[in-house]
Parts: sequence; structure tokens; C-alpha cells
Amino acid sequence: MTSKTVLVSGASVAGPSAAYWLHRAGYSVTVVEAAPQLRPGGQAVDFRGEQVKLVKAMGLFEDLKAHETALREQVQLDPEGQPAFTLPPGFTNGELEVLRGDLARILYEHTNGYADYVFGDRITQLAETAGGVDVTFRHAAPRRFDLVVGADGIHSGVRTAAFGPEAKFRTGLGYHVAGFTAPNHLRLDHAGVLYNEPGIGAIISNHRDPDAVAVGLAFRGDPDGYGRPDLARQKDIVTAVFANAGWELPRLLAAVADAPDLYFDTVGQIKLDSWSRGRVVLLGDAAWCAGPGGSGTGLAMMGAQILAGELTAAGGDHVTAFARYEQRLRKAARVGQKNGAGSGDFLVPATAESLRKRNRMYRSLTGPIGRRIWEYLGNRGANAVKFREYPQPRAHALP
Ligand SMILES: Cc1cc2nc3c(=O)[nH]c(=O)nc-3n(C[C@H](O)[C@H](O)[C@H](O)COP(=O)(O)OP(=O)(O)OC[C@H]3O[C@@H](n4cnc5c(N)ncnc54)[C@H](O)[C@@H]3O)c2cc1C
Repeated sequence: MTSKTVLVSGASVAGPSAAYWLHRAGYSVTVVEAAPQLRPGGQAVDFRGEQVKLVKAMGLFEDLKAHETALREQVQLDPEGQPAFTLPPGFTNGELEVLRGDLARILYEHTNGYADYVFGDRITQLAETAGGVDVTFRHAAPRRFDLVVGADGIHSGVRTAAFGPEAKFRTGLGYHVAGFTAPNHLRLDHAGVLYNEPGIGAIISNHRDPDAVAVGLAFRGDPDGYGRPDLARQKDIVTAVFANAGWELPRLLAAVADAPDLYFDTVGQIKLDSWSRGRVVLLGDAAWCAGPGGSGTGLAMMGAQILAGELTAAGGDHVTAFARYEQRLRKAARVGQKNGAGSGDFLVPATAESLRKRNRMYRSLTGPIGRRIWEYLGNRGANAVKFREYPQPRAHALP
């Protein structure tokens, strides 16, 4: 019996997770990634509750544990550089936290043996026929696949090709983010510092490498103000926006020019009435991007398991499977978007007054009751969809 073929677009978190579960469901998987190689970088991502069960089921827990950030507390500074409040461990880092780049690499290493990864290429057109989807690529020869999964993020090319232009589905949250690695001249040890001035913010955290920190910057601005700038322009924008910033930011900013892993994007949410069109289905940020604090990483991985599980449960009938997949995930995606919608007010308050208000509110939540509130808020998104095992298809059962 020849297996059905599936093309997955995007090799970050959702894509390799889809490769893992779709292979187990008996599909022959190709993953196409626009970047020339696996993309490093990004801030830390965390797993809680149901999501921990998922990574255990994928056999990833030990590997991830070995790359755990083990972040302790994070101190928020006021514009004068004085401590304003402290975020307890567990608020942002959940039960298990790793850097996004480590997660993407671990997922890739676990799936590379059986999924066919193609880097430096992208889909240019999708045409559905009775027997499959005819796909053309920028570089590779055209091919037909039984199914196509768009796991290519907020700016998904699959979504544009099958559903229409991004502007129809994206709502900007009014700020931009940039992330990169810099030298640890603050001598942080598994700890984080947050700093704000009105309209700008920075999170600097030290994880496993004692000599390096992950820098995450956020700044207010028109969501469409910068379009899709290339790398050189991204560096210019970040340098210009933070040119007059105080505290330690000038020293940290000096590392932008040589950053090997700059990540820059406008922050937004994606909302669609349906996540599938015929044989094409969206997964992760391509379908339901929520922005920071929206459990996007865990939900993308959970979505991959549910997508493959529903295909198995429906005996490969993609129409039934895609509808059930969406049914199981819609509520969690809504919760994630609700949580993510407030991220700008936390990360980058717009005015001096809103900054003071935010600091007052968080200061009052640092006691034991506050901790329980943090925990509740963090777990609400992560547990919005329960991990459930699906039966393995008999013909493709793994040892
Ligand atoms: C380098 C990087 C750094 C990140 N850093 C952060 C961060 O600091 N904070 C945060 O909240 N989120 C960050 N994210 C987003 C975060 O990874 C996602 O919100 C979440 O993990 C869901 O993942 P995803 O796989 O659905 O989407 P993404 O992680 O966005 O991955 C999409 C993948 O698709 C690829 N791609 C895009 N367009 C195409 C195309 N047309 N054809 C083929 N491939 C394409 C991209 O290169 C990328 O590898 C980052 C993403 C990347 C790629």
C-alpha cells in the first residue's frame, strides 16, 4: 500500500510537530521551509498541564528537560532603573521552559529521519483537483500531494494562496517585537530583567549559556508602518527606535548589528471563519495566531496531534477530520487570543501614566494570592484543550 502524501509548509514548531504526528498516522511527509536552514532564536516558550502530557507522549520531555531554561524570578525596573515589582518563577516559565530555537531544533532532529525537509523553497501556487492538490514551488518541480498543511506562521504563504491576502485576517495589536542574543554584561544568572519607558520595553534573560542573554524588545507603532522589512532594515528600525532609550539599553543595542538570530515582527492576531479549504488546512499561528502570552507554541503542537488523530479517526476522510479538528481547538484558540490581546498593555504600556498603573497593579499581586492568580492565568490557556490519545492506524502502528 502506498501511503498518502502530505506537504507541510513551515519548519518552526507547528510544522515539525505535524510531521511527527502525520508520520505516525501513516502519511508520507514533506516539509518545505522558506528559510535556507532551521531558524534559530526567539524568546523562551513554556509548557504547562496538558501540554506537558503532550510532550511526554511525543517522547520529547527528556530532551526538552535537558535544555530547560530554569529561569528564576524576573525583576521589572521602572524608568529610573529601580525595581518596581518581581515576577515569581512559574509566571512566565510554566512547568517546563525552553528557548524557541532549542524546541524547533529538537523537533526537527526527532522528525528528520522520516520527514523529507526542503529548505530555501516555498509554495507559489496551490490548485485543488479531484485527486489532490497540485503544488508549484519557487524552485522545486511541481508535485501533487493528497493534503497540504499551512504551518507557516502569521504571514502564512499557504493561507494567502488558499484563503486570500493576510490583511483580511490579521488584526494588529499595536506593537512590534524584536529578539536577539547579546553578551551577558549584566551578569544575570538564570534570571530576567524587564525595563520600560513609555512606548518601549525590553526583557533580558539569562538561560543556559552563562555568557549570553536573550533580549526581547517591544515598541508601540502602526502595525503596518514597516511593511515586511528585510534584515538590514530591521536592524536599522530597532536601532533608530531605541536610539534615545536609557538604562542599559544602548549597550544591549550595540549587539543588534552583529546579531546572528534577529527576529523581528509586528504583533497581531489571525482570525478566520474556517481553518480549511478542501484539502488545505492551517495549523498554529497561520490559523489562530494570538500573540505573546497566547499559548501559541503549546497550542500549535497540540493542534498537530489533534489534526493527525482526527485524520486517523475519520479513516483519512479529510472533510470530516478537518471539521472535528477545528471543533476541538476553537475554544482554546479563543482563550489564547483573549490572553494575547492584553499583551501590549503588559509588555509595553503606551504612556507614563499607564506604566505607573501597570506597575501598581502587578506590585499588589506579588504575595501568595497573587501567585495563585499568576498560576491560574498561565494555566488557563495551556489547559483549554485536553490531551487525548487517538488510536494508532493498524497498518502503520509503530513499535
Ligand atoms: C525565528 C523565530 C523567532 C520567534 N520568536 C518569538 C518570540 O520571541 N516570541 C514569540 O512570542 N513568538 C516568537 N516566534 C513565534 C512562535 O514561534 C510562534 O508563535 C509559535 O511557536 C507557533 O509556531 P508556528 O510554527 O505556528 O509559527 P512560526 O514559529 O512563526 O513558524 C513559521 C515558520 O514558517 C516559515 N515560513 C514563513 N512563511 C513561509 C512560506 N511562505 N513558506 C515556507 N515557510 C514559511 C517561517 O520561516 C517559520 O520557520 C518566533 C518564530 C520564529 C520563526
